[in-house]
Amino acid sequence: MADIRKRKKVLLIEPNYSNKFPPVGLMKISTYHKELGFDVVFYKGDLKQFVIERIADKCINEFTSIDNTIDWYIRKDLFVEYIRTKRKYILQQLHISDSEMEILLSAKIAEYKEYYWKGFWEKEPEWDRVFITTLFTFYWNITIDTINFAKKLVKEDGLFMVGGILATIQSEEIERATGIKPHKGILNIPGQLDKGDDKIIDNLPLDYSILDEIEYKYAMSNAFYGYTTRGCIRKCSFCAVPTLEPIYNPYIPLKDRINQTREIYGDQKDLLLMDNNILASKNFPEIINDIKDCGFGKGAKFTQPDMLAISIRNLKQGINDRAYIRKSQSLIMEFYNKLKGEESFDVYKILMKYHITKYITSKKENIISAYNELKVIYDKHLKPSSKLRFIDFNQGVDARLFTEENVKLLGSIAIRPLRIAFDDMKTQNAYEKAIRMSHKVGIKDFSNYLLYNFKDKPIELYQRLQINVELCDELGISIYSFPMKFHPIAGEYSHNRDFIGENWNRKYIRAVQAILNSTKGKIGRGKSFFYEAFGHNEDEYFELLEMPETFILYRFFFKWLDNKHEASASSWRKCWTECMSSISENEKQQVLDIIHTNVFNEDIQTQFGNPLITKLLSYYTNYRKDIITEGTELYKLKQEYDKNPTKALRRKKRIKQREYLRL
Ligand code: SF4
Repeated sequence: MADIRKRKKVLLIEPNYSNKFPPVGLMKISTYHKELGFDVVFYKGDLKQFVIERIADKCINEFTSIDNTIDWYIRKDLFVEYIRTKRKYILQQLHISDSEMEILLSAKIAEYKEYYWKGFWEKEPEWDRVFITTLFTFYWNITIDTINFAKKLVKEDGLFMVGGILATIQSEEIERATGIKPHKGILNIPGQLDKGDDKIIDNLPLDYSILDEIEYKYAMSNAFYGYTTRGCIRKCSFCAVPTLEPIYNPYIPLKDRINQTREIYGDQKDLLLMDNNILASKNFPEIINDIKDCGFGKGAKFTQPDMLAISIRNLKQGINDRAYIRKSQSLIMEFYNKLKGEESFDVYKILMKYHITKYITSKKENIISAYNELKVIYDKHLKPSSKLRFIDFNQGVDARLFTEENVKLLGSIAIRPLRIAFDDMKTQNAYEKAIRMSHKVGIKDFSNYLLYNFKDKPIELYQRLQINVELCDELGISIYSFPMKFHPIAGEYSHNRDFIGENWNRKYIRAVQAILNSTKGKIGRGKSFFYEAFGHNEDEYFELLEMPETFILYRFFFKWLDNKHEASASSWRKCWTECMSSISENEKQQVLDIIHTNVFNEDIQTQFGNPLITKLLSYYTNYRKDIITEGTELYKLKQEYDKNPTKALRRKKRIKQREYLRL
């Protein structure tokens, strides 16, 4: 049995959407299969490119078996490019003529090119098992495309499994779109993959090495990831957790998994726990003790281990060659790029000698040899310093479950930031109380996602943000608020981001997003910053929501324009006030209905006989195009503004330029 499994191959895929957090489910599935002796590969990226690279590898192996006097692997990038593009000049760069077996090799590469282009690879799938994870419902298209493509990669009698969040909450829709019946929920029962196996996959340690097999970098790296509980005691209607993890498990031991990770992959700076509702656990004091035992007590420090030495050690031990070739090569290049003068030249010569300037042409033995030669210079520059390390419950904690005991325990670990959910104004009292209690035990850094566009009213977003900045000011703490737009997890709008909540409209949503554009999606401490961005009071906030988007995005430019041009926020404001105070209620409703659809074309201006309404609507249609259209008066003025900012406007100009680039 073991022998058969040794030859079997497992492919783990995360669709190529952006994700801050690594796919922990796949990391556990990797551990499970490696313990059974399977070959495991993880991929996130363009699957066609992945197929081409696998074909190129086969082609190179065959080239080597025909003529091993030439190191074909160091030309791998050209093999890949030729198979991908069929371009003759790339074939010439391969210099097959260097070999005495040129005729045979030329025929071989032509065969491999056809193998890809004629789709022969689809008839000979490589993988015994393929696992695909899924995430948000609004990543529907990319997820379905990935599943449909990956179906071609698994052998006819192989196992093809789709799991994760989207797969659990929309399993029937996925089955209809792909013909694949997804696995629902987590793998927390023994024998789910192999009858008779007694392991619980969900409790296995994570295989961190797979994250280094791919080019994609997760924002939250250099951290241990884990759970100390599963599920949640509540059933909020907007949340997928009750479906994903319906049973609350109050305790999953942490220490062994962290220690094992530390031993194999090196110490990590931070600890990221993805528990959905940790304060609901009756084992909370035990969990806190585990966290402290893992080295995350209050004030804990971290010294970065020599990651290159660990990478090379793992490469030598054959732990995951795909990962540690990539990781070692990138660490060596990172080191080289910091060098100057003679040392830089010395290392450059080593990189060239072993052909490791590019990952794709880097070979295991070459990386190890290069490391041995550059180690003296590398060690000279190695100056590990110690930094504070942090623990983050990234799903947030439940304000309603704060008690004197719980908060004391929270205050005894290296928590930063403490994320306290503030999804609803109805929880204001519990939320404020939780912040004050935390402040009393010395916690100073907070963060929260503020859900909007659900059943809330637009003003409630302003109020929650205001509460946060006022609390920061009063208590001398820092709260980063991240407004998070609600997307339904089922129904018509779940596959895109177009849902509009019952109290919201498209214009208001765009306005909030335009404001958040300039704050990078978050609001920190600093009252003046908040009031400047969202308005000094609720009236100003609503005025901003109604304001043409161009005026919000280029707020400082239009401020600068005041008195120089009729396009300015103040002239819009004047027109808005005049219009709204003079037109009939019926007309007002019609105008607002148009504005709130956020669809502004020239036609809307001609719908009304009233010139004041026509003028007001012109602010919404005219300037957005003008400001980015070369030759227009507004474009020229913008150029002038960009070239000659006053000192006071310089910083603001930079922000506006960034916004412009994001448009
Ligand atoms: S408390 Fe949080 S995790 Fe639990 S159901 Fe509500 S939103 Fe989901």
